[in-house]
Amino acid sequence: MKLRYFSLEEFNRASSNPCPEPLIANALEILSVADAVRHVYGNPLRILNGGGYRNPEFNAKFLGKKNSLHLQAMAVDLRPVNNCNDAEILKIQAIVEDLLMKKILPTRSLLGVGVYLRGDNAAFIHIDVRKGVKARWEDK
Ligand SMILES: [Zn+2]
Repeated sequence: MKLRYFSLEEFNRASSNPCPEPLIANALEILSVADAVRHVYGNPLRILNGGGYRNPEFNAKFLGKKNSLHLQAMAVDLRPVNNCNDAEILKIQAIVEDLLMKKILPTRSLLGVGVYLRGDNAAFIHIDVRKGVKARWEDK
């Protein structure tokens, strides 16, 4: 699937170092999911600094979990460019769930979806492609 809104370049700019070659397929998969969500949302989203690939050192800097899917380039953290607030994050979460239910996301993986309701200009949503069970969480 061709990316319309996101790119590997943006994914890499959010990191301390480029996504390693063996993980690029993972990055393209989660970016394709993000792209589909962005399309329905209809407003620009950006990848947070630290919200793309993380090597272990970079992950530690962001207090990421040791088994964070950012280490596998299977996760992305997003927020709206304009109107970044909790309500918009919940709107994006609803779009992810709706697309999942309709089975029209460009992935066969179950998704992890975490919403971080931290108010204006601080809220964001984490989405990841993961094997096994789906995961949902909310953090304030
Ligand atoms: Zn994340």
